[in-house]
Amino acid sequence: MAWFKKTRKPIASTAEKSSRVPEGLWIKCPGCTQIIYNKDLDKNQQVCPKCAHHFRISAADRLRIAVRRRSVDRALSRPPGQTIR
Ligand SMILES: [Zn+2]
Repeated sequence: MAWFKKTRKPIASTAEKSSRVPEGLWIKCPGCTQIIYNKDLDKNQQVCPKCAHHFRISAADRLRIAVRRRSVDRALSRPPGQTIR
């Protein structure tokens, strides 16, 4: 007969540890290894605010940026492609 007896069940460990941070919310910059909030990166047109590393963008996003710039040119009645200062 044992002197001590385990009265409680051991806590079952889960196979996967659940994370409180949703996947894809933060991204690590390969240029400066800084962790950047994904929405900040979107605002900055996929350019790292710390080291100016340019992330890859999809064709749709590239088109969206070009069209947005065109509409600004049209609004300011400038020839298209001229840099905005
Ligand atoms: Zn960076």
